[in-house]
Amino acid sequence: MPPMYSLSCFLGIFLATATHCVTASSFEACLRPQLSPAATLITGQSSNVAPRWTEYKEFSTNNVVNASTEADVQAAVRCANKAGVKFFAQSGGNAWATTWSLGENDVVINLRNMNQININAARTSIEVGGGAIVSEVIDAAYKKNTQVVTPNCNCVGIMGAMLGAGYSRFMGDSGFVIDNVLSFRVVLASGESVTVSPSSHPDLWWAMRGAGGNFGIVVSATFKAYPTLEAQNGAWVGNLVFSDEKIEQVVSAVNNLKLTSKMAIFFYFANIGAPNYTPIFMVTPFYLSGGNTTAAMAEARRAFASVLNLGPLEDTTTWTPYNEVNAGSDTFCVSGSRKVSYGAGLAQLDPATWRTIYTNYSNFLIDNGGDNVANSLVLMEAYSLQAAEENGDFSSAYAWRSTNRFNTVAIAWYTDDSLDEAANAWAGEVRDNWRATSGLRSNSTYINFAFGDETLEDIYGSNVPLLRGLKTLYDPKNKFGQFFPLYE
Ligand SMILES: Cc1cc2nc3c(=O)[nH]c(=O)nc-3n(C[C@H](O)[C@H](O)[C@H](O)COP(=O)(O)OP(=O)(O)OC[C@H]3O[C@@H](n4cnc5c(N)ncnc54)[C@H](O)[C@@H]3O)c2cc1C
Repeated sequence: MPPMYSLSCFLGIFLATATHCVTASSFEACLRPQLSPAATLITGQSSNVAPRWTEYKEFSTNNVVNASTEADVQAAVRCANKAGVKFFAQSGGNAWATTWSLGENDVVINLRNMNQININAARTSIEVGGGAIVSEVIDAAYKKNTQVVTPNCNCVGIMGAMLGAGYSRFMGDSGFVIDNVLSFRVVLASGESVTVSPSSHPDLWWAMRGAGGNFGIVVSATFKAYPTLEAQNGAWVGNLVFSDEKIEQVVSAVNNLKLTSKMAIFFYFANIGAPNYTPIFMVTPFYLSGGNTTAAMAEARRAFASVLNLGPLEDTTTWTPYNEVNAGSDTFCVSGSRKVSYGAGLAQLDPATWRTIYTNYSNFLIDNGGDNVANSLVLMEAYSLQAAEENGDFSSAYAWRSTNRFNTVAIAWYTDDSLDEAANAWAGEVRDNWRATSGLRSNSTYINFAFGDETLEDIYGSNVPLLRGLKTLYDPKNKFGQFFPLYE
């Protein structure tokens, strides 16, 4: 098939950018003959072809490759290298960081169609395509009465989350998503494919589990799965709404809660919407209970007694099947709009800090007209780190496995770009409040919750020199230079 020239390319001639058109079309001419029958290459104004969670600092490229096979991904990488354009691998499209440097001639390699899932006969392992998202993995596992450690929102890309660490409500007994992967198949910056496991490229095995976006494109991975009885394939979960007068008491109770391996707990500041946009304080406990029985529910409630005894105004906690546990966060998954998101890791929750943040959240809503920013929220997540810590701090490149007891994020959510400044000022100040009382000696931010202005040490901790050495070995030209790159 002859190369096709995009409309923007023709317009570009009149805009005196003929050189870049030659470059873009040379990518297309290189790639098209190599693509598998199910793959597509979309050129032109295609930024909405692979939508992303936030439009804030969203990049827009004129080339989207919808890959279908490992060979498609290899060809896309090799052709981008040959044409001298940058490329970016996308799965769920949820990363909210602002570290992108992609231009219109560059390439998105969209893996979303590579979402094949195979569970072994013993139900103890699951092979997942590089573009699969959480809901697809959970649905497949639920049908086979097994469980997999995944992130908590259905839209999230398994590999995108995994390459940073992957926090999960199901991690108490088995650790992060990175602790549950058995091996992965990776396309390197050169276009070569390798298997990465404890015995194959052990240096990449260490580095990619925490700093993965810097080293390669994962086209498939095999994870552990945990068979369960159908009657026990679920958890106790729901919302507790507390009066704002109880913020200090609840925050203190959560701070002092010892999370056993079956527990996790989140809390949020959100609001009730029009007409007053009154803030609400919501707590979401989770307990991996042994089934929908009175005894199991009582065990879950006992575990959270110190919080429940503070008297929530509403309590929707109940037994929930595994495939519905994430349903409560589906509204958080909606893509589009501007979402300015600042995160921080904490060793402690300071009640006075959370009172200040609540007051400032309320003011942010009022000052910006309520409706314009109504979906904005503040979030705190705490997981049992028991199994994760047992693996040891140096078992992978994720630097904060025993440091961050709590992960937080403030999200200013709106559509009108004239609110960008106010959004950054508010969410940035929330992060300052957290950092000031974090109980940590230095900032330690989970890469997948970071904003993009952090130092490399905030993200990778003391692993920076070692990671940089490996980067020089595997990606000397910094082809994987989009998501918290180890080199500029
Ligand atoms: C609604 C929502 C809920 C979330 N919930 C959780 C949670 O419960 N636990 C948690 O740990 N995190 C959570 N996160 C954070 C999430 O882990 C990150 O946003 C993650 O980067 C998303 O991955 P993605 O594939 O969806 O996004 P993308 O933007 O597609 O990818 C994110 C990064 O990973 C890279 N990448 C994606 N796929 C591949 C691949 N196959 N090979 C190589 N690189 C790849 C991309 O190049 C990019 O750098 C959540 C985020 C959102 C928006």
